[in-house]
Amino acid sequence: MERTSSLEGLAVSEASTEASEGHGVKRALVVAAHPDDSEFGCGGTAALWSRQGWEFYYLVCTNGNKGSADPEMTPERLAPLRQEEQRAAARRLGVKDVFFLNYEDGELSYTRKLLGDVVRHIRLIRPYAVFTSDPETIIVRDSFVNHSDHRCAGLVAIDAVYPAARDRWNFPEHLEEGLEPHNVKEIYIWSMDKGNFCVDITDIVDLKIQALLEHKTQFGDGAEFLQFVKERWRDESGRYLERFRRVVMFR
Ligand SMILES: [Zn+2]
Repeated sequence: MERTSSLEGLAVSEASTEASEGHGVKRALVVAAHPDDSEFGCGGTAALWSRQGWEFYYLVCTNGNKGSADPEMTPERLAPLRQEEQRAAARRLGVKDVFFLNYEDGELSYTRKLLGDVVRHIRLIRPYAVFTSDPETIIVRDSFVNHSDHRCAGLVAIDAVYPAARDRWNFPEHLEEGLEPHNVKEIYIWSMDKGNFCVDITDIVDLKIQALLEHKTQFGDGAEFLQFVKERWRDESGRYLERFRRVVMFR
C-alpha cells in the first residue's frame, strides 16, 4: 500500500511501498561509502519500513579509517571502532545485517572488482530496492562538496543494479556460488538537489539521531551535531523528512 500526499511538489510516503500486498518480505540493500552514511541518508526510512515488514541490509564499501582529526587516533585503531559503531547504529534501527567491503577510506575508485563486490551482494540478498548516495552532484548548494567516495559508491551501486546484477554473463563466477542474476525493482538515491520522493520520519526522528550518535568517533557528545541535523531535516511545517530520488525500474 502506498499513500502519498503533496509537499513542496514532492510525493511524501506515509507508508512503505506495497509492504503488505502479498509479495512476501521486501528486502532493501543500502550501498554506502562509509560507516554512518546509511544513517544520514536513509536511517529513518530503514527503521520505519523495517517496522512495516521490510528487511534492510547495509553494504559499507570503505573502512572509514580516515574519519578522525584526533592526533591520538590512528587509521589502524579507527577502522574496527567504526565497524562496531556501524553495527550498533544498525541494531538500533532494526537493520538485519551489515556487510563491509573494507576498501580504503578516501580512495574508493570505480573498478571492476568493486562493481563485482556490489553485484555479488545484490545477488546474495536479492533486494527489491537499493538505496545509495548521489553519484552526480559534486557541489551541493554552493556550500559543501559531495565526497568522492559517496559519488563512487552511488555510481557503482546504480551500475550494479542495471545491468550487471541482471545479466547472467556479467560476473558468471557468481553462478558457481549458487548466486543467480537478480532484478532490483527500485533505486532510492538520497539526494541533495533532485528529490522526487520523501519519507516522513517525524515519528522516529529521535531514533535516527540515537543511531547516528552511536558513531561516537564522529560526533562526540553530539550537542552541536543535534542542532545541525534538526535544522537540516525539518521542513517549514515542522515535519522531519528524508528525501530521495526514487527510480522505478522499467522492464
Ligand atoms: Zn560518508
